[in-house]
Amino acid sequence: MQDKARKRLFIGLISGTNFLICVLLALLWVVPYVGLTNIHPYAGWVLGAAVGALIVFLSWSSLGLVLNVLLGRTFPFARRFRGMSIKLFLPLITLLGRLLGMSKEKIRSSFINVNNELVLSEAARYRPEEILLLMPHCLQNSRCDRRLTYNIHNCKRCGKCPIAGLLDLQEKYGVHLAIATGGTIARRIVVQTRPKMIVAVACERDLSSGIQDVYPLPAYGVLNMRPHGPCLDTQVALQDVEEALLKFLDPAFLPSETEDREAKAGPRGRVVSSGQAAGAEAVGDGAAG
Ligand code: SF4
Repeated sequence: MQDKARKRLFIGLISGTNFLICVLLALLWVVPYVGLTNIHPYAGWVLGAAVGALIVFLSWSSLGLVLNVLLGRTFPFARRFRGMSIKLFLPLITLLGRLLGMSKEKIRSSFINVNNELVLSEAARYRPEEILLLMPHCLQNSRCDRRLTYNIHNCKRCGKCPIAGLLDLQEKYGVHLAIATGGTIARRIVVQTRPKMIVAVACERDLSSGIQDVYPLPAYGVLNMRPHGPCLDTQVALQDVEEALLKFLDPAFLPSETEDREAKAGPRGRVVSSGQAAGAEAVGDGAAG
């Protein structure tokens, strides 16, 4: 699906969801209002003010998201609603999309695309040790008997699967690289490595749930390819992973030949200092719980 089509789908679904919620909330006010005056003369207005505030909040959150996606940058007060809106709206968007006959995969793919844009719009740059490359175990060749979950360096780099190339990328840029066999291990890896930014490779389902899980930590998703069906000998384009890395790595830590490429592309973003944790501690606490 083209990026523009994904954006349009996301914006359409989020607007439709917001409209339905607002109508529902308005009804919740109108119906009791008829009888509320019998309880207290101002009871109806108090409830109305509360419902009005909720409507404004939801509209502002969705508008902030839509503007963020369209214009590629964050707005005052909209950024703080990002995670909440994504957490709140994604299940509703999925529900509405399913009611309209769209596939879950299509909706999730749209969400991942928009999430990536939102993460990019925050325009932060990180040191290599602050970035975690998180891979699914299905990238490993199914006939390979090396145990990689606890130590990816057990790979003998025969080149029969993308793990060998990913290890090359790790060595080149000095980032963390790990393989997760599921959500629990992925959360443990995040707690142990305490990254400030994650570049994750997975299918639509695992990426969309993972992005929600690690919030407020920014996670950029790269979809894997499944030529043999789901969860078996999946593939990822190393170039896509490297390009994603280069969007977030602090240029001061790039190898010299990569620096030249970056310089031609022009500067982007700011360096995140160690005090500006993008929520690693919050994730650590939350995941540990
Ligand atoms: S590169 Fe070779 S040794 Fe490493 S995980 Fe893949 S198949 Fe196994």
